[in-house]
Amino acid sequence: AAVIVAIDGPAGTGKSSTSKSVAAKLGLGYLDTGAQYRAITWWMLNNGIDVNDATAVADAAAKPVIVSGTDPSAPTITVDGLDAAGPIRTQEVTAAVSAVSAVPEVRSLITDLQRSIAAAAPNGIVVEGRDIGSTVLPDADLKVFLTASPEARAARRSGELKGKEAADLAATREALIKRDTADSSRKTSPLAKADDAVEVDTTELTLDQVIECVVTLIEG
Ligand code: C5P
Repeated sequence: AAVIVAIDGPAGTGKSSTSKSVAAKLGLGYLDTGAQYRAITWWMLNNGIDVNDATAVADAAAKPVIVSGTDPSAPTITVDGLDAAGPIRTQEVTAAVSAVSAVPEVRSLITDLQRSIAAAAPNGIVVEGRDIGSTVLPDADLKVFLTASPEARAARRSGELKGKEAADLAATREALIKRDTADSSRKTSPLAKADDAVEVDTTELTLDQVIECVVTLIEG
């Protein structure tokens, strides 16, 4: 039977790297749901939609066609056929994504998309996000909630950012906490741990140890 795994948690906990590696090891698909929210945000910015105008965002939400490729060794994302993988990681998109993803029409469209992708995965799928275990896939076979100290998360995030975008550690920590607060305090689908999720604190663990831990949870 297909295995559905939900991996949730805030930025900088190693969610993406863990999810991709676990999926590759077990022959499962992989879906980065943050990338989908970033993709719709990128489209809004490109199409002159004021991301702080919830009505305008809601009215436009169904227009972009977002397609996610679920191969964990080469995940892809396109918007209206355009490769969005690079542009969705800019600071401009990162700064706007919390506002766009708080709009209920956006969440409902993206949630439907996520459910249909998960249902179509032949062997199963690892879905990473912030509300996957609690809202999108409440019947997942395993729900993992990754955490880490704010210091560890900021250090990992700034290590991921390259070149011009590499802010100093203090600025990264501040931006990350600001986005977490916006994500956790919104009224629609706040960043929250499902009651039946297994919490894994990654602060003192290497990436390989986190991967091993999740694989054991799936196989156990
Ligand atoms: O995981 P990532 O940092 O790429 O997510 C970008 C943003 O997308 C988050 O800050 C959050 O606002 C939104 N998001 C969400 N629900 C998800 C995944 C991401 O609201 N399942």
